[in-house]
Amino acid sequence: MPISIEKVLLDAAQDSSHSPGAGRRPPPRPMAEFDDGSECAICMEPLDARDVVALPCACAVSYCFRCWDRALASSFNARGQASCPTCRVAVDVDFDADARNGEGALVFSVAAGGGAAGAEDPDAAQHRVESVVNRLAGQAAPLMTRRLRRYGEDHGELRPAAADVGAYLKGLGVKRLKALAAASGLDPGAYLEKAELVAAVRAAHGTDGAAAAFAVAAAGDAGPRCVCGGALLRMDGLARYLRVCAEFPDVGDRGDLETVARTLLHADVARGTSSVICDLCDRPVPPRGAVYTCASGETTVLHATEYDVCERCFVDFAVDGRSDGALPQTRRVGAR
Ligand SMILES: [Zn+2]
Ligand SMILES: [Zn+2]
Ligand SMILES: [Zn+2]
Ligand SMILES: [Zn+2]
Repeated sequence: MPISIEKVLLDAAQDSSHSPGAGRRPPPRPMAEFDDGSECAICMEPLDARDVVALPCACAVSYCFRCWDRALASSFNARGQASCPTCRVAVDVDFDADARNGEGALVFSVAAGGGAAGAEDPDAAQHRVESVVNRLAGQAAPLMTRRLRRYGEDHGELRPAAADVGAYLKGLGVKRLKALAAASGLDPGAYLEKAELVAAVRAAHGTDGAAAAFAVAAAGDAGPRCVCGGALLRMDGLARYLRVCAEFPDVGDRGDLETVARTLLHADVARGTSSVICDLCDRPVPPRGAVYTCASGETTVLHATEYDVCERCFVDFAVDGRSDGALPQTRRVGAR
């Protein structure tokens, strides 16, 4: 059932931890009729042994990891319970942050008692969905802090750039400055003097040390990796709210979307709430602030309602290299 924008705004007003993706996803694509185990039943691509998912259910069907993961995310978003796309058995999902030499892995099991009850009241269903999202985020938190710290170690320029971007930029060569100008959305050919280049790059990021540091560190590289392996994209508050509102089924054209996004953002600022919660520290992301959002969106059951890391966490772990002790208590040990 489509949910109106008014309903979403009302829900957002009542509950700052509102997760916009829940409840409105299309069902998974149908399985193939025949399966000899050599190709994925959904995308039909040939499978090699490394890619085949060991299913928790009794199905004799083969899926590539990507399609299986997408199908679980899709069923979780549609019905609040991940399920096998073939036999529909309820599947519980956990994340083992230490598996695969510390790269992390999803762990699947058949849900005890068949998973979600059929006739559940909406509040209970929402609460259960949030508790699953929270459990997975908590289990993934040690890996995310590890990845941010590693990113900081691999990018020694983060800390000096965050501390005094002007001084840092002045010490760079012209070639590097031109690459930075391009990565900051400027035309590197438009500046004749080095001092002009420094001033332009600096002006592009204002006085925001973290923004400048990220621009400096990420120029020509992909930025930190999400726990799912996707890229974390740095975006400003409005860009993130546009992404939130694009999930609303009754938003029409681009103009409508912008109006709705600005309305929701301003309403959140006025109420002192946020429609985006940091999946690492579980704190609301300031609506006008920057956020690092996974490019994989809602295509993995690891974060079926998107994945965000707030600027504060980026600075704590990537720039300052803090340990997991900097996380709030609720996030320090992945609840298992
Ligand atoms: Zn596939
Ligand atoms: Zn199955
Ligand atoms: Zn991700
Ligand atoms: Zn955070």
